[in-house]
Amino acid sequence: HVKERGKNDFQLFTHEMHQKLYRKMMIEKQLRSALDNEEFELYYQPIIDLNNNEIVGMESLIRWNNETLGQVPPDEFISIAEETGMIIPIGHWVLNTAIEQNARWQKAGYKPLTVSVNVSVRQLLEPTFLVKVKNAIEKYGLPASYIVLEITESIAMYAEVMVEKLDELKALGISLSMDDFGTGYSSFSYLTKYPLDSLKIDNSFVISMSQDAENKAIVKTIIAIAKQLDLKVIAEGVEGVEEYNFLAANCCDFAQGYGISRPLPATDFEDKWLTRSELHLKPVKNEG
Ligand code: C2E
Ligand code: MG
Ligand code: MG
Ligand code: MG
Repeated sequence: HVKERGKNDFQLFTHEMHQKLYRKMMIEKQLRSALDNEEFELYYQPIIDLNNNEIVGMESLIRWNNETLGQVPPDEFISIAEETGMIIPIGHWVLNTAIEQNARWQKAGYKPLTVSVNVSVRQLLEPTFLVKVKNAIEKYGLPASYIVLEITESIAMYAEVMVEKLDELKALGISLSMDDFGTGYSSFSYLTKYPLDSLKIDNSFVISMSQDAENKAIVKTIIAIAKQLDLKVIAEGVEGVEEYNFLAANCCDFAQGYGISRPLPATDFEDKWLTRSELHLKPVKNEG
């Protein structure tokens, strides 16, 4: 029987592997024409200042709707785009779209907000990235101070090259935020080496905070690290009023999460967060 089970396990494994590989190949194939077919869209999620409950910025989050594959979440296709190099043209589109949209909103007279753009290591290492950022700023006339680039801890592997690149980006006047803080690299040395402005506490610590004393402790510790290093700190994954209040009470600077708003298409974001005269956060309802 042992032999039989072993055989079945093996077949199950290869079948699953085959399916994963097939899915990956499909994504790879469909990604190649996605930009030309205008299959991408940017959603925007508000970022709230915990000192006054006012919106101060938004994060742009890519959405992909493909005819064959349907909605493919970024957590699934971004890593494939990174492997294949497609992240370079896709990232270029994201950067330009986010900056153009924010410039348009500012020109329309809405309260000026920052726009946070996720960038992959591969984009940062690409030789023309700095020029691309510079060009976008000039083309759309958005002051660099309203642009935040969100980078991940994987940049820590590149040490000196990356310090140089980030210094050059900083010199343009943009801000740099360390995304998913606490999940990646195990050394803190990069925190002082890189010209960072803020840390984003990863979702995973914040979401279950209220029921999890350890996550609460981690969140408080990350806030303390940020304060000590003179960095701003943003909590993402704020789903309920309890978490929101805890963060405010513990001197977290900014909050972002479903409890405040889901990421929204540009028109919905404009309607819900820009055109309404009350720019103040409505009290977060505890739906749980
Ligand atoms: P991220 O940059 O850490 O973005 C935060 C993710 O958490 C987003 O997922 C957002 O929708 C989700 N989120 C926000 N609030 C909550 C909440 O209260 N609860 C929960 N459970 N989730 C929340 P999304 O949009 O699926 O994006 C996933 C990841 O894909 C991003 O994580 C980022 O790493 C990557 N990504 C998204 N857009 C881009 C992009 O334009 N370029 C690159 N390079 N990566 C991107
Ligand atoms: Mg992000
Ligand atoms: Mg994150
Ligand atoms: Mg993340």
